Order: sequence, then C-alpha cells, then structure tokens
Amino acid sequence: MSGTVKEAVSLMEVLPESDQNFVLEFIKKLRFFSLAVILWIIMSITMTACSPMQGREEAYSASFFAMDTYMTFTVYDDDAKAAREALQQAQEEIGALEALWSVTDEDSDIYALNHSGGQPVTVRDETAGLLSFAVKMAQETDGALEPTLYPVLTAWGFTTEVNRIPAAEEIEKLLECVGYDRVKVEGSLVTLEDGMMLDLGSVGKGYAGDRAGRILIEKGINSALLDIGGNIQAVGARPDGSDWRLGLRSPFGEGIFGTLQISDRAVVTSGNYERYFIGEDGVRYGHIIDPETGYPVNNGLASVTIIAGDGKLCDALSTSLFVMGLSDAVAYWKTHQEEQPFDMILVTEDRKIYLTEEIKGKFNLQKECKDMVIYPVTSSVAEGKKR
Ligand code: AMP
Ligand code: MG
Repeated sequence: MSGTVKEAVSLMEVLPESDQNFVLEFIKKLRFFSLAVILWIIMSITMTACSPMQGREEAYSASFFAMDTYMTFTVYDDDAKAAREALQQAQEEIGALEALWSVTDEDSDIYALNHSGGQPVTVRDETAGLLSFAVKMAQETDGALEPTLYPVLTAWGFTTEVNRIPAAEEIEKLLECVGYDRVKVEGSLVTLEDGMMLDLGSVGKGYAGDRAGRILIEKGINSALLDIGGNIQAVGARPDGSDWRLGLRSPFGEGIFGTLQISDRAVVTSGNYERYFIGEDGVRYGHIIDPETGYPVNNGLASVTIIAGDGKLCDALSTSLFVMGLSDAVAYWKTHQEEQPFDMILVTEDRKIYLTEEIKGKFNLQKECKDMVIYPVTSSVAEGKKR
C-alpha cells in the first residue's frame, strides 16, 4: 500500500537508525490492522496537502505504540529541526503520561492507588487533574462514565485479553466495589476505598492528545494531525488553511462510512466493534460496559463519535454516550451543548446516522453507504427528522 510506504519513509526521518528495524516490524504489523485503512486515507490527503505546489511546509511524522494502541503524529513545518524536536517532545509527553496511568506498571500513580488498601495516596498533578475530570464527568453523565469499573472489566478479561463470561453472581459481587462517588480527590491527595480499582482507559487518550497538541503549539507548530489509535486531534488546519478531511471508520466492517472536514478539533469514537470477543454462547461481547448491569453495552448503538475542541471531553463523552444509548445521548446533547459545546455522530446497528446540526455540512456519506439514512439532531426536535 503506497500510503504505508510513505509513512515508513517519513518515520525514518524522525527516528534514529537503531530504531529503524523496530519501525519496519511495526509497519508490517500495522498492515494487519484495519486502522491502517484510515491512516492511509489521512496520509494520502496530508501528503497532498504538503506538496511543493501549495507551500514550503514538509510533513514529518512519528509512529509508535503507547497506551495500548498505535499512534501516528504528523506535523507540517518549514523547519525540519523544529518539527522533529516538537514531535519528539510530544511523543515523550505521551510516554510520561502512560507511566503515570498504567494499571500494570508498579511505579504508576494508578497502580499505587489500586493497591493502596484504602489509604490516601499523593499523586502527580496530571493524575489528580484527570481523575477529578473523570469523576466530574461521571457525575454529569449520571454514572454512564465509571472510572472504577476495573474489577468488572477484569472479570470479563478485557484487561488481560483472556476473555470469559462471568457468572451473574460474580458480576453482582464485583459491582459492590464500583462507584465513582467513593473516589475522593483533595488536591493531589486521592483516596480510594479498599477493594476498589481505577482505570482511566476511557479518558486518558483524549487527555494525552490535548497535551501533545498543546506541546506542538508551544513549539510553534500551527498544523498537525495526531492519530491516537484512530482518535484524531487536529492542531490548526492543513498547511494551505483548508480543513482536514478525515475518514470515519465503519462500525460494520472494513472501510469508512463517511468523511468529516474539521480544523482545530478532536474527533473521538467509541464502539463495541473496536475490542470484543465472541462468547461460547455465540454472543458478541464488547469492551464498553454498562456500569448499572456490569454487562457489555448492547443498546442498538454501533458507534459514537464526538467532535469538540477538548480531546478529553470527547473521550469521556464518546464512551458515556455510547453507554446511554440513542435517546439519552440526544437528550444529553440538548441539555449540555450550550454550556459545553460538542457535536456528535451516532451510528445505530440498523444503519441510521444521527448528526448534530453544526457538522451536517462538514460530513459526507461514502457512496458505498448510500443505504444509510441521515437524521439531523437539532436543539428543538426530539430525535431529528429524516434528511
Ligand atoms: P473508549 O475506547 O474511550 O470508549 O474507552 C473504553 C475503555 O474504557 C474500555 O476498554 C475500558 O477500559 C473502559 N470502560 C469500559 N466501559 C466503561 C465505562 N462505562 N466507563 C468508563 N470506562 C469504561
Ligand atoms: Mg472514551
């Protein structure tokens, strides 16, 4: 695939020689992920954007594995040294945040909290900041976002990849250790009740994207696209000033169902098609859990994409609105979009697309998906009307 080759070339520019074998192995692996389809689209578009015809900016990119996913950061600048330094710093920031929030790394803040036996733990500022945000979003979403679900996720095997269907009594017992209202964050001092465990997987990547984007801006980069495991953080616009054009991965299989034009925004998607297993009973169980039942969400939604300036908000909302289901997600948008503006694209299992009014003109349905029906979501109409 030509996009993959181009990506490998620009990657070589950024990494030292010693890492190049690793990179080639990584690129090979990448081929097996459908994510590569999206990357290919983005890369072909962005490569066009930096052609000498349109400006002096060149594209520099770095790809790496962090926070349990593949990331590709691409920056556009006319100063190679500055671009590479900025990329390096952004990547280092991701590594530093991962070290704070890993559930398995014994030196992480989250590990310390999960093994604190109910004792208060002093955590780094970033951890306290993200934890208070997660708790606040848990309150606002009425517990649809639940940062203390880790014991339940582990029972389903989503933290170990050895999946199983837990017995109903086991889930019921584990849910006793779940409850965001029992996490106390007082400055940098955090207390978690004995037996409870945190997992910031639903918000950490969004927060990390915000931080990486901010570092690039501080380093003078005006145009960059950060791909964080399929979630996008766009810094500014394309080098020629036009919007980025992103492919939105179809929750029904390979390829994309549409494209979205945005600048200076994060675009984050959640769905149970991303990580799931098929049980012995033949049922498909996804990695996003309804905290009320302890079972994987199965409410008719196939994916939720949130678009906003703030990546961590997008990340928190994509997970929690997916848990809520179509009508509660629409109701949430209506009551919150004024004070906390965001847009959304909800895709249902029966191939309907619900789009908020602001981005309607920025979204284009893929020709192969013309059977999908678009319903605009407006602030006045309950569930929108067919286009
Ligand atoms: P995301 O990909 O951002 O939607 O986050 C999904 C990840 O968050 C899962 O892989 C779990 O680690 C965790 N998770 C699953 N269900 C929930 C939930 N209801 N609230 C918070 N985190 C969750
Ligand atoms: Mg999320």
